[in-house]
Amino acid sequence: MYFAALMKADFLIIGQGIAGTVLSYTLMQAGQSVLVMDEHKPNSASRIAAGVINPVSGRRFTVAWQYDEIYPVAVEVYKAMEQLLGVPVFKPRDIYNVLPSEQLKAAFMERTVGLSYMEDPSADRVAHYDQWLDQPHGAAIVKGATVLLQHLLPGWRNYLKQHNSLREERLELSRLEIGPEGVRYADITARYLIFCEGAATVNNPWFNYIPFLLNKGEVLQVQVPGFSTPDIIKRSVSLVPQGDDTYWVGATFAWDYPDEQPTAEKRDILEIGLKQLLKVPYKVLNQLAAVRPSGTDRRPMMGLHPKYPALGIFNGLGTKGTSLAPAMAAQFAAHVLQNVPLQADTDINRFFNRYKG
Ligand SMILES: Cc1cc2nc3c(=O)[nH]c(=O)nc-3n(C[C@H](O)[C@H](O)[C@H](O)COP(=O)(O)OP(=O)(O)OC[C@H]3O[C@@H](n4cnc5c(N)ncnc54)[C@H](O)[C@@H]3O)c2cc1C
Repeated sequence: MYFAALMKADFLIIGQGIAGTVLSYTLMQAGQSVLVMDEHKPNSASRIAAGVINPVSGRRFTVAWQYDEIYPVAVEVYKAMEQLLGVPVFKPRDIYNVLPSEQLKAAFMERTVGLSYMEDPSADRVAHYDQWLDQPHGAAIVKGATVLLQHLLPGWRNYLKQHNSLREERLELSRLEIGPEGVRYADITARYLIFCEGAATVNNPWFNYIPFLLNKGEVLQVQVPGFSTPDIIKRSVSLVPQGDDTYWVGATFAWDYPDEQPTAEKRDILEIGLKQLLKVPYKVLNQLAAVRPSGTDRRPMMGLHPKYPALGIFNGLGTKGTSLAPAMAAQFAAHVLQNVPLQADTDINRFFNRYKG
């Protein structure tokens, strides 16, 4: 009689967006054996995102949550992955914020005074941009970065394949067997199964008590003939360089949407933003849409299941997957491997009163 060999791993990770990518890397660095399963959804949030890390954002120009702690971890992890994979992954970038009015300029300056990541643009730089951008109220520079997801995700996928650590398939929840000491799925056994499914989490029967508030985002890919810059240009929309004179333009937000397809309405909004910003013509090359896995309290969602501790979740990275993933993965790994408590505001235990058993 023939018995198929069982594949054993410490961790089975479901999903290879930025969450599953960085978590699997972090666990492998900690000496764990990891198998990643990903169905390769072409419009997952991580495949559509521009990977911008921006310390100051929002209408009130507030500093991002825990930015000074999470940014150094992100730099360290992405640079190490860059070395390991041999592809460019992390690029520090200036975010050239075009100020929309004198009133908002005053508010921006007041809220960001003294922050180490702020810089006044030189007169030469402003003059250079004058031929391309409509900027009567001036601009301010924020020191940010981009994570080059278009290199990182396939680079890590190849690495996993080479190390026999990837299954390119969809996990069918109904086929999963859960025991006190681990899980079994087809020919795989693992001590832990961690869901990094992004927006698909709302259909997960074990974690559907966690209040996610998904939101759909849309972006354009455009060409601005002759205009080439390494900076991110930001007003109501952001232009993120993609090479030569092509840019990612985004992004929109929608909490109520019938499907995940791009819409004419959001294209109009993005084009209005572009026309306010640019003095020169552009050409739309493509339009894409994806759903962000945001939580109602806009904080990561992580931890082990209250009844089935072989199951875990690492999700809720919302609008800031690239900046949050490395520090949150480190926290999650320390929790599972060394029993270090999670921060109260990232721990799924904060929703325990919603768990029905
Ligand atoms: C338009 C837009 C712009 C954005 N811009 C930025 C930005 O500039 N900077 C930033 O930091 N963040 C940005 N974000 C947010 C960022 O994209 C998300 O925080 C991040 O991608 C979430 O990553 P994730 O791995 O949790 O989920 P996802 O990227 O959705 O990955 C989940 C993965 O799980 C797989 N999967 C799900 N279910 C299963 C299953 N049953 N079996 C197998 N595989 C499964 C999917 O195929 C997918 O590959 C943006 C998001 C959008 C939509």
